[in-house]
Amino acid sequence: MTKTAPPPIVRRGLLLVLSSPSGAGKTTLARRLLADDAAITPSISFTTRKMRPGEVDGRDYHFIDKVAFIAARDRGDLLEWAEVFGNFYGTPATPVMAAIGEGRDVLFDIDWQGARQLSERALADLVRIFILPPSAEALYQRLTSRNQDPPEVVAKRMAAASGEISHWGEYDYVLVNSDLDACYRQLTAILTAERLRRARQPGLEVFVKALLAGL
Ligand code: 5GP
Repeated sequence: MTKTAPPPIVRRGLLLVLSSPSGAGKTTLARRLLADDAAITPSISFTTRKMRPGEVDGRDYHFIDKVAFIAARDRGDLLEWAEVFGNFYGTPATPVMAAIGEGRDVLFDIDWQGARQLSERALADLVRIFILPPSAEALYQRLTSRNQDPPEVVAKRMAAASGEISHWGEYDYVLVNSDLDACYRQLTAILTAERLRRARQPGLEVFVKALLAGL
């Protein structure tokens, strides 16, 4: 029997996309996942919208102006981009590529337009999850209780929710967020299983070879 243990299994990072209408709990779930799991890196988007109270530049978004956004997009620096509620949002490509290459997972809080563009460019690496609110009332409650947006913006987000929800069929998993803890457990179960897919563990070949050598 060989004395050397098989090496750790090298894995390929995945792209975890969370989409939902605003107020369905996606941001809370994403923050919790990032706090609990050191193997996940957030994709920090560029946005041209105004910073909300409590948000931090460079943590929640890179807040930039329209001219800088268009320049970045036209240089080809963005993996995907979309216009949402009159503002531009986009994913800078470089940090995502670096993370994947190092075997880290990247978490995306992006809308259906972004998920669709990533599906065209990186389907094999994608895990797409859509979060639904349990009811229209619950969504309204969440949008008004967080006190982040003026009433006209809340009304706009409620009107946009049905458009966003209509894309649920383009996702691999759909979770109903009636209970945050339960929804979070479902999310981590998906992540655990998706990381264990054979195709996401290129190091298995070396591992099994070393294992067999010891038999
Ligand atoms: P919010 O302004 O509430 O932070 O985000 C509004 C919407 O824009 C959300 O649905 C969010 O998922 C989406 N979003 C945020 N960043 C990006 C991005 O980089 N690309 C795309 N396509 N959507 C984004």
